[in-house]
Amino acid sequence: MLIRRTVLALVVGLPLANGAAYADDGPLPVVASFSILGDMVQEIGGSRVALTTLVGHDGDAHVYEPTPTDAKTLAAARLLVVNGLHFEGWLPRLTDAAGFAGETVVASAGIVPRSFGDHAEEHHDESEEAHADDDHGHGAVDPHAWQDLANGVIYARNIGAGLAKADPAHAAEYAKATEAYVARLQALDADVKARLSAVPDERRKVVTSHDAFGYFSAAYGVTFIAPVGTSTDAEASAADVARIIDQIRREKIAAVFVENVTNTKLVDQISSETGATVGGALYSDALSGPDGPAATYEKMFDWNVTQLTQAMTGS
Ligand code: ZN
Repeated sequence: MLIRRTVLALVVGLPLANGAAYADDGPLPVVASFSILGDMVQEIGGSRVALTTLVGHDGDAHVYEPTPTDAKTLAAARLLVVNGLHFEGWLPRLTDAAGFAGETVVASAGIVPRSFGDHAEEHHDESEEAHADDDHGHGAVDPHAWQDLANGVIYARNIGAGLAKADPAHAAEYAKATEAYVARLQALDADVKARLSAVPDERRKVVTSHDAFGYFSAAYGVTFIAPVGTSTDAEASAADVARIIDQIRREKIAAVFVENVTNTKLVDQISSETGATVGGALYSDALSGPDGPAATYEKMFDWNVTQLTQAMTGS
């Protein structure tokens, strides 16, 4: 009976519990935790992969609730691609429920993590405590590492290596696609640096709704000021908002931005009290839909940089 079941599993291509290398001829079943990683997997894997993205476009991966369908999809996958850095707090429960036995790629492995402490002096004790309580559940490490294209290169290489490990028969194809993609990301990184360094230093300051641009800020020299902390469902206190409004007036900050994963109420309020322009939505934690302006990781950068430079230069 045991032998017959094993034979059946081989015949119909069911995943075997031992996590053996993928030997089927069909596309490799891959699950990515959220849309930015899904795009990277697709860029590198192409038609070799059958991709499922758990948190889709415009979705908020900070607060996702996995479904029973997600568990089924993951149980049949050979590769799971996650961000790590405590971004997907809901994931361990899902991998347990699915009994997932495939390979896992932590896309951020090898990056230099940033903490949220950079502008700690602007926060009083109360808000620091609120941050420690947010749904990241870690309080200190900033998970938004993809917002620096140099980290995107590391993500791409990790994903390429993971695909090759899960599907060694096509390792050479994955390696080639990875290097082509990495070359595009490196060219884009240089382009982004050139476009932003053309903006005068004192104008490179904007307000966003949640603190998702720490890596972007460090890489590209733009200061982002966020009224709420690290996460999308933290509430800004009246004191936080008053502090931001003071700062916008004092430093003559020209633009405030909303993000595609957050609500606009707070930013609208800040804008109406200060006269700062509301810029176009920035894409921080999720891509747009296929017809939107940020349908890929590369397009997301191009769009965000265009919105930022237009707002900061008043053009
Ligand atoms: Zn975020």
